[in-house]
Amino acid sequence: MKQNFDQLNTDTICDVIRLLSPAVDDYLYVYDFRSDHYFISPHASERFMLSDYAFTNVAENLEKMVYPEDYPKLRNDLNGILTTDRCTHDLTYRLLSASGKPVWINCRGTVVRDETGRPLYMAGCINEIGKIQKADNLSGLLGAAELKLHLSQYTNRFPDGFMLRIGLDGLKGVNARLGVEYGDLVLQKTAEFIAECLLPGEKLYRVVGDEFLILDFEGRKTSEGKELYRNVRDKIRDFIMQKNYEVLFTISGGMLDCGDIDEASYSQVMKFTEFALNEAKRLGKNTCYLYRPEDYGKFLRRRTLNLHLRQAINNHFEGFEAYYQPLFSSDDQRLIGAEALMRFHSEEFGMVSPGEFIPILEETSLIVPAGRWIMHEALKMCCEVHKYIPDFKISINISHVQIMRSSIGREILAAIEQYGVDPKCVTIELTESGLLETDTRFTTLWSHLKEAGITLALDDFGTGYSNFHYFTDLQPDIVKIDRTFAAKAATDEFEFEILSLFSKMIHELNLKVCVEGVETAAELEKLCQLPPEYLQGFLLGRPCPKEQFMEQFVQK
Ligand code: C2E
Ligand code: CA
Ligand code: CA
Repeated sequence: MKQNFDQLNTDTICDVIRLLSPAVDDYLYVYDFRSDHYFISPHASERFMLSDYAFTNVAENLEKMVYPEDYPKLRNDLNGILTTDRCTHDLTYRLLSASGKPVWINCRGTVVRDETGRPLYMAGCINEIGKIQKADNLSGLLGAAELKLHLSQYTNRFPDGFMLRIGLDGLKGVNARLGVEYGDLVLQKTAEFIAECLLPGEKLYRVVGDEFLILDFEGRKTSEGKELYRNVRDKIRDFIMQKNYEVLFTISGGMLDCGDIDEASYSQVMKFTEFALNEAKRLGKNTCYLYRPEDYGKFLRRRTLNLHLRQAINNHFEGFEAYYQPLFSSDDQRLIGAEALMRFHSEEFGMVSPGEFIPILEETSLIVPAGRWIMHEALKMCCEVHKYIPDFKISINISHVQIMRSSIGREILAAIEQYGVDPKCVTIELTESGLLETDTRFTTLWSHLKEAGITLALDDFGTGYSNFHYFTDLQPDIVKIDRTFAAKAATDEFEFEILSLFSKMIHELNLKVCVEGVETAAELEKLCQLPPEYLQGFLLGRPCPKEQFMEQFVQK
């Protein structure tokens, strides 16, 4: 380099700078040590405290231009160039703007020396860090626009490596409790901690408010990315300890293997990393989730299904159907009622299982209109059956979301009155998982329904957190034993003993037992020894549309 550049006349460099200046935001400069002459991109003189873009007496002029506190740092660095054989200059400090405000810049330069090592001149570039950040003066990082620009150089596939999107958990809470300034500090610290953990070649961007993206195109594995995530977490933990726990916050991470991106585009990166980060948050936050294409496929299916469900509901429940499964008394196997079960089908999805669509309805609260709809269907159906079987009972499932998000109690009572159904002929089924959120809304609903003479059933007993106090506290009329528990008890003697014990206790409290999901004659025989009051299962009758139910079980 020396041989080529020491011959250069700095005037030539000035010409090049003059030529390039209009095309670059940064400030190119040359500092000739021999003539003590400095030349910088002309637009620098508008931006900074400079009378001209070309000047002599460099030290004096620089002192006027640099933020006073930072000037000694710069002077030392420049002295180093003159007194050692160092050939690079790379310093971050503040300049004064034309109006006297500090402006963060990074100044880099290459020193050209003659054969004897004497410095001739230095040429380089000043970047305004705050300007590059645009969206982010806080963390000092590049923003989404820069990420986009960086990724645009790849046309086909990205190099091997990983992407890690890190999001702060609950920044809003920090802002609300300790003030926005504290929130800013938390953000800034997180950015700092991430930057400290980066390995050579990794790039860090701040993509949105409280989310950062690390780009590793160096061929590292996602396991190394997870290690990086853990290192950042450790730093945050130490920071929290240092602050004596006055602030508590965590980070979630969404990791993506570059090999899982089939199209080198910014939009795919944003889409997949956003999904990955959301998954980490959904999994309970403070964790790192590794993107899997099959999970993303499921997510897309859920999203489309969600859309179809919403459209169907808005379109007079088109595609929704009420099925009815018969319930029998166990002693004489007489039909005593039916459970209304929701079905959904659409052209694109065909018949969708309630196991899949009910959770979506619950998450989106669409279970409120859908649950209201099936309740009306079921009560209408019950009226029809009453023409043949006057004491026929209809069972309706109510989700805990309906309890939390609607006035379901009043709605049930109003609908019962509207159709003129005897409350004794209506059973409301609630699951334990819903009951876990024991809440005054729930207990009030329960007691109102009971007072009105409606039968209450505790559904799915034996799954999740079976807790005996529900029986004593809530006194449901019926306890429904879940199919998984019942099926195990039918073949495993130990399980059967446990179920018998439960059954005895339930009976001692004067509550009734319904066994769900009886599929075979052997199961029926074994489970009848409990003995339950009611039976339900494919062996005795599958859920079916109303017309079929009427033909098969009512008007036979
Ligand atoms: P669930 O309330 O426990 O309903 C009983 C489920 O067991 C039904 O599944 C029924 O088809 C199934 N089943 C009955 N007998 C047998 C059997 O012998 N073998 C087997 N393997 N399964 C049997 P389905 O209709 O798929 O509904 C699943 C769950 O979806 C229901 O479980 C309930 O939690 C929910 N669900 C269905 N309809 C509604 C509704 O209208 N509202 C609410 N909130 N939830 C509903
Ligand atoms: Ca049920
Ligand atoms: Ca059940």
